[in-house]
Amino acid sequence: MQIKRRTFLKGALAGSALLSLPLVFDSKADAREKLKPYKPDKVTFNFCEMCFWNCTEKVFVNDGKVRKLEGNDKSPVNFGKLCAKGQAGIKTLYDDNRLKTPLIRVGKRGEGKWKKVSWEEAFEFAAKKFKEVIDKYGPESIALEMHGTGEPAIHRLFEALGGTTNFAVPAYSQCRGSRDVGFYYTFGAALGGVEPLDLSNSRYIILLGRDITESLHVSELYHFSKAIGNKAKIVYVDPRYTHTAAKADRYLQIKPGTDTAFVLALINVMVTEDLINHDFVDKYTVGYDKLKPHIAKYTPQWAQKQTGIKAEEIIQIAREISSFAPNCIIVPPRRSARYGNDTQFARAVAIANALLGNWFQPGGFFKPNKIKVPKANMPDVEKSKYAQLAHQRNAANAVLALTNLPTITREIVGVLGLDNVLWEAIRTQKPYPIKAMISYATNPLFHNGDSNKIKEAMNKLDFYMVVDILPWEHTLYADVVFPESTYLEMYAPPKSKSWKYPYAHFREPAVDPIYDTRDIWAIVHGIAKHMGLGEFFPFKDAKGVLYSSLNRMPKDQRDKLLKDGVISLGPIPEDADLSGDIDPKVAYQKMLDAYKKAPFNPYPIALGEDVNFNTGSGKIDIYSDFLAEDGFDPLPNYTPPNKPKKQNEFRLVFGRVAVHTHARTQNNEWLLEHYDDNNVWINPQDAKSINIKDGDKVVLVKGNLKSPYPVKAKVTDKIIQGTIFIAHGWGRFSPYTTRCYKKGVSDAEFCSNDTDPLSGAAAFQNSFVSIEKA
Ligand code: SF4
Repeated sequence: MQIKRRTFLKGALAGSALLSLPLVFDSKADAREKLKPYKPDKVTFNFCEMCFWNCTEKVFVNDGKVRKLEGNDKSPVNFGKLCAKGQAGIKTLYDDNRLKTPLIRVGKRGEGKWKKVSWEEAFEFAAKKFKEVIDKYGPESIALEMHGTGEPAIHRLFEALGGTTNFAVPAYSQCRGSRDVGFYYTFGAALGGVEPLDLSNSRYIILLGRDITESLHVSELYHFSKAIGNKAKIVYVDPRYTHTAAKADRYLQIKPGTDTAFVLALINVMVTEDLINHDFVDKYTVGYDKLKPHIAKYTPQWAQKQTGIKAEEIIQIAREISSFAPNCIIVPPRRSARYGNDTQFARAVAIANALLGNWFQPGGFFKPNKIKVPKANMPDVEKSKYAQLAHQRNAANAVLALTNLPTITREIVGVLGLDNVLWEAIRTQKPYPIKAMISYATNPLFHNGDSNKIKEAMNKLDFYMVVDILPWEHTLYADVVFPESTYLEMYAPPKSKSWKYPYAHFREPAVDPIYDTRDIWAIVHGIAKHMGLGEFFPFKDAKGVLYSSLNRMPKDQRDKLLKDGVISLGPIPEDADLSGDIDPKVAYQKMLDAYKKAPFNPYPIALGEDVNFNTGSGKIDIYSDFLAEDGFDPLPNYTPPNKPKKQNEFRLVFGRVAVHTHARTQNNEWLLEHYDDNNVWINPQDAKSINIKDGDKVVLVKGNLKSPYPVKAKVTDKIIQGTIFIAHGWGRFSPYTTRCYKKGVSDAEFCSNDTDPLSGAAAFQNSFVSIEKA
């Protein structure tokens, strides 16, 4: 019995009605006669790990095999739905390319020659290497980068080893860092990974390169679809016409790197035409008096020259969105690692939203809520001998020593790290040697720009440890590779997610590990034991951690979690009915009245509560004293993007497709059926100038660098002239991931390694390439 593609697609794309009645399709006989209700032998609870959104799900098992994944209909977030990537988690579990046993390198770095070893040998080897590095260079010479649900486990090991602040969550430098810093300086709050956007209750939405239908997360798309159903006006701004653009009422093809000019001009119109939300601005913001003269130069006519968007359109959009305030939103981009002025761009977006008064308002930004879930009972890892040693040595954070970031950014970077700078510290061995690196569930050769420099850095390490599921490219450079079980084969402690509807869920295995793999808690337990740190890791695997946490929960909460797979904080009030049948003011009031009785409140400002902002002033800092004190622009200014140095060089931009997650799913059999290679989007006029035709095989060239695997040119006016687009995550060169090997071109190889001075985050799209026929 095998689930075939058509069934998979139905499940992935259809609504909850279909999902609630799973059917199995037997292709060997006539389908209509054989269609029968599906009865699982076993159903287990889980949450999806195919992307960080972690939709809550149920796993259906027959004959000891996972047959189907389905969104948990008790989830207040994904409401019984999964996307195609989520459904294809089955094919990650059953990928025969998976890492099947611990490995120790026997060839040169990059050759991918290993010997298979036992778990005990691998633990002993890692422990020996960590001890050698600590003895020779001190614990500060150990670094960590990590991603995903297992982060607390690997970070605990890192702390026990005396690892200092040299760790990084790549999502900061490669994705949301500039945006979070910009919002922190303005609202005293970062937006985080799961943004508090109240799309379903919004009446006017501006998306700036935020391709919500391709950078797809189930609940976000669900609420965006509701907004479209409610006839919210959608404006989409991007150099590329995307699927999201196709859903918009108005698409504006903007020159790349000029979004700040567009937003500054919107602010200009709001200010000069007095369209701002005065009640909100007077009560909750400081610095509007300084913004007024500052913004005068950023007229729509000036912005037209920068952006290519007509001044009249900018004026009209500013007027339209203001007329819906506060129930409207200018959506901050998800990935803001673009042109090096990204934090000032985020500041401009934050200020424009503040002028609309949409903070903690329906249709604007809601207040995220969270359920408190007890942690497992474990000793204070700070007491480990290596942590004590690190404390005595008091080594500087290498990343902070290499950067000149403003004060508040330094605090944020102290918590989330800067992966791009961390690898540069390793490559240069400055300000001091970093000699051991752990990559957990993240591939630095695909999430950093100028990725050949990362290979150089890897060669500077005495010890490189990788924990992953598949033998991706970075594993070819590792000294030891620990194979982690997939999320369908393991337990995980309750995970509480912060969002509009607070909820927590947990994970239990649907099947035993297929290969000789272990969960991340078991892996860190083994290494710690061999380091003499066993007392700090009292649980031998994730099951122990889960049950310790469950045992500390109030009984009713625990019972509900085990019964439903998810807990929330009570029934969710209906969204405002904006279908047009009711006056929107009445609809919003009805919803707010319902929230008055709810145990959580996403709209405190709308409900008249006193709100303090975690800024210097206690209000929203339109003008930032903190930035002024550190010598940075206290109000956002416009920096034009860089230009190509030669003729026929094109700016390289990249983005997502809906059926792949970053660089993690390119070997997935089902997802490959829908997108199995990237191509190069090029404008017809650019293509003509270099004699490229649609479908020609081409390679990208930058200096001495040439992409090794030819891809097709897609000649289309959906991309603006002077710019080319490729989908992220391709150009795969690990021969052990056989389904995607030698497919596509890698953006990571060609995009720039510049940084934004305010956040330290990457500025990937400052890179230009030329194109040659293959
Ligand atoms: S959005 Fe899709 S891939 Fe991400 S967690 Fe949800 S179902 Fe999984």
